[in-house]
Amino acid sequence: MRFAELAAAYERLEATSKRLEMRALLTELIRPLRPPELTRVLYLSQGALRPEYEGVELGVATSLARRAVAKAAGVEERDVARRTQETGDLGTTAGELVGKLHRLGTEDPLTVAGVYHDLERIAAASGAGSQEEKVEILTRLLGRATPLEAKYLVRFVIGTLRVGVREMSLLDALTDAFADGSKEARVKIEAAFNLSSDLGLVADALVQGGLAGLEHIHLEVGRPIRPMLAEREPTLAAILERMGGSMALEYKYDGLRVQAHIAKDRSVRLFSRRLEEISGQFPDLRAALPAAVTALPAILEGECVPLDPDTDEIRPFQEVSRRRGRKHDLERLQEEVPVCLFVFDLLLDGGIPVYERDFAERRRLLEQRLRPSERVRLADQRVVHSVEEATDFFEVALAGGAEGVMAKSLAPGSSYRAGARGFWWIKYKRDYTAGLSDSVDGVVVGGFHGRGRRAGRYGAYLLAVYNPGRDRFESFCKVGSGFDDAQLAEMPTRLKGVESDTPPPGVDTGVTPDRWFLPKVVLEVRGAELTLSPVHRAAQGAIRPGAGLALRFPRFTGRVREDKAPTDATTSDELLEMYRSQVRQAAPSTEGSDETS
Ligand code: AMP
Repeated sequence: MRFAELAAAYERLEATSKRLEMRALLTELIRPLRPPELTRVLYLSQGALRPEYEGVELGVATSLARRAVAKAAGVEERDVARRTQETGDLGTTAGELVGKLHRLGTEDPLTVAGVYHDLERIAAASGAGSQEEKVEILTRLLGRATPLEAKYLVRFVIGTLRVGVREMSLLDALTDAFADGSKEARVKIEAAFNLSSDLGLVADALVQGGLAGLEHIHLEVGRPIRPMLAEREPTLAAILERMGGSMALEYKYDGLRVQAHIAKDRSVRLFSRRLEEISGQFPDLRAALPAAVTALPAILEGECVPLDPDTDEIRPFQEVSRRRGRKHDLERLQEEVPVCLFVFDLLLDGGIPVYERDFAERRRLLEQRLRPSERVRLADQRVVHSVEEATDFFEVALAGGAEGVMAKSLAPGSSYRAGARGFWWIKYKRDYTAGLSDSVDGVVVGGFHGRGRRAGRYGAYLLAVYNPGRDRFESFCKVGSGFDDAQLAEMPTRLKGVESDTPPPGVDTGVTPDRWFLPKVVLEVRGAELTLSPVHRAAQGAIRPGAGLALRFPRFTGRVREDKAPTDATTSDELLEMYRSQVRQAAPSTEGSDETS
């Protein structure tokens, strides 16, 4: 396949905001393809070379890409910079400048295979002289590119592809292109993806063996499974009712979710909630885990929290987050902030996948296999049968330093549902007793210039929730309070490289910020209540035609959710559920009456 065809498809995808049209375009793009080309196109379309968990990075900063554009176009770097100020996007600039020299393309057209190979070389270049090597490879690629190819090549390497295609859309397209397009097929394809976290692998199996081919995909050490997610309920009584009168309650630890893969040779790999490899940050856990589990290979899940070395008490979460991304001073931090993994699930037991077994069975196995130590312990759990027992355990959990409890179903069928949010797990936090029932994780999609003390920087941000059904980010609030000076000052750094002058594809809002941002940074916010709004688009039309949901008096909690990808943000459906439970709480006897007012 010519790279030009892919670039043309991206151009069309970027121009549409209609879900069905996008699905059709993507299907048309991938239907004629076969592995390995298909696999490459799938990864490229996600802005990557490999599945996210492999952590393959190109390592091309914007400045490096700018240098390559200048060289390929035969102009000064500062001219490229100046032009980019005007276009607002280095990709667009590359399309204009490189295109001037190569209006008709070249005799030696770029192919997807060739470009992919060169991008792999860019990613592999490391050590002394690697920056030059990266620039060199990119310059040569750009020298052969048509304007459109240059635009998407540059956007790809600087990580701002912007075509608005995410996993959910690609799964739709796979269903239409390589199965019968039915809901049942879609469910099977998504299940295979949830198990493997690798779209390329799923596509490969699908093309080789149809839907039956997906059965060859198994849970494997080293390849993370997409995490199971919890629903909410406003009261413990409601949770108990949902669970059918009895349930397991566990401490809800407030830390970092960790999926630990321990191989037979006792090597350990750790993955975060968004499936990034974080092994490097927790050498102490890696050292402790092999001895803590008796049947290897194993895959466990737990929450990693800091413990006070003197009192053994749980410490605030911020102390673990300080360790993320820090390579230096690790030893000192290990002593200062020792962590403990509270294990709450077992998915692979001595090489046997057990994630499909009921939760009670998994917990029983976990209790048998785990040899608790200072660094690795079993999550505190109690099986309860009444609201009194549940309340009692909730108090115990809070006193023990947890942020609440996690209720888990003991009913038949309580398997580990990878990548799914459901009522098999229900969270209940301390704050549910007052105001809005939970915090919301919103994706930053826009910024507003500050005034007064905040002049010269952004004073507020536009946030969106994710709607997987539409594959869209829908705005729900503008948040300016809760930031301290340091947080406000560091936000632009976090948003560097994803600024945009035009609304990014996939963002849906009736608000116009001073600057747009491609979805990347996730912030935790709290608010007084959810209301209907004419300008916000979260769950638009679900309650009243035309109205979206908005969070009133939003406040940043101080927590940037680095462990969440934009698509892991709170979903529109969750927000809708929060709105409904708020209405139920406010007027229990007239359920839904507020909804039409
Ligand atoms: P939230 O991030 O508020 O949606 O809550 C779900 C998160 O709670 C999970 O992703 C885990 O990181 C965390 N968690 C803490 N304790 C537990 C537990 N005992 N079982 C499951 N998840 C837990």
